[in-house]
Amino acid sequence: MIRQNTAIACIACEYCTSGCPQNIMIPSYFALYNSLKRTTGSSSSQVLYYHNTSIAAGSKPGDCIACGQCEKSCPQHLPIRQYLKEVAQKFESSDLFPKMPSQLKRGISQ
Ligand code: SF4
Ligand code: SF4
Repeated sequence: MIRQNTAIACIACEYCTSGCPQNIMIPSYFALYNSLKRTTGSSSSQVLYYHNTSIAAGSKPGDCIACGQCEKSCPQHLPIRQYLKEVAQKFESSDLFPKMPSQLKRGISQ
């Protein structure tokens, strides 16, 4: 059941993160994306966590420079660069933003 709704087959091994020049928290974002896919109710908690993770790491999926380093270490052979684009599109799209607290929305747009 969960597998049917899981979009990205990331096993959270974190092998991909150490060599990322942009310090992108790849497995965290993939887990959030999968969580969003499974949810049938409000997505506000995933959106909030997404932006908190971006602020803490100082980078977000859209900061990927497509160097490909992460994909060399992924045991799942995931197209990480493509997935990051999809994650960024999903979480930074206008249909999710209005659900965020206005104060936080202002803060991350600076
Ligand atoms: S392709 Fe993107 S996510 Fe992967 S290591 Fe390079 S900058 Fe980081
Ligand atoms: S290396 Fe692949 S499977 Fe492991 S955390 Fe990164 S994306 Fe997920």
